[in-house]
Amino acid sequence: IGGHAQPQTGVMKPAGVKTVLAVGSGKGGVGKSTVSSNLAVALARAGKRVGLLDADIHGPSQPRMFGLTKRPASPDGKTIIPLRAHGVTVMSIGSMLAEDKAVVWRGPMLMGALQQMMMQVDWGDLDVLIVDLPPGTGDVQLSLCQKSEVAGAIVVSTPQDVALLDARKALDAFATLKTPVLGLIENMAVFTCPHCGKDSHIFGHGGVAAEAEKLGVPLLAQLPIDLETRVAGDAGTPVAAGDGDMARAYAQLADRLIK
Ligand code: ADP
Repeated sequence: IGGHAQPQTGVMKPAGVKTVLAVGSGKGGVGKSTVSSNLAVALARAGKRVGLLDADIHGPSQPRMFGLTKRPASPDGKTIIPLRAHGVTVMSIGSMLAEDKAVVWRGPMLMGALQQMMMQVDWGDLDVLIVDLPPGTGDVQLSLCQKSEVAGAIVVSTPQDVALLDARKALDAFATLKTPVLGLIENMAVFTCPHCGKDSHIFGHGGVAAEAEKLGVPLLAQLPIDLETRVAGDAGTPVAAGDGDMARAYAQLADRLIK
């Protein structure tokens, strides 16, 4: 990954896509990809036509989270037919980079790859395309927000100070790029012991809520540290595809965003 960006012109938003939604974070490892995958599944279960573009080049986890092991096909060598799982159309730079014989993706050029994942993938008609961004405030965020008419961004953070510190930077970057922030999601907010039922605030308490209030943006959800979420993600069946508490929590989040 690296090298020179390909020259890019014009809009980078597929014709059939109504709304592009970006999911970002300041730090890595806070659950941005987990939230992206589950939100995508919950929106699909709510009847929306949903795509998920995994643009997290340093840690493309969506193939794993959706249980996708195949390479997307490209019958004409130009257009990629994306894979589908759990009602979501998924394209990941992970699938792309693992394909060393790819004819479509010319070289490891990040911006060109982003452009191709947006414009050379047959996304079809989608109500919403969720983009799982890399953490931080780099080239991908800049390009996407400037060229893809991103309707709104969601920022995921844990309550931990170091995560919040970087989340603030991500929020500031979206403000600079004039991308509306739809709200914050506090992930890993609390751990409830399955044995004694006691709550532990492993990463701190209340930080994301306070930040949301300070900035005047909604706190969209507070999600617990949850074993099932982690296991389901690793197994390729997002927890939102099930029927437990977390599936309900993600359904609520999807509802909030639809309204
Ligand atoms: P990011 O995209 O921010 O780097 P991930 O979504 O890949 O973060 O999550 C990092 C790890 O934490 C993964 O192993 C994931 O399964 C786990 N994880 C994320 N959110 C939760 C949660 N609410 N409860 C338990 N594990 C979680």
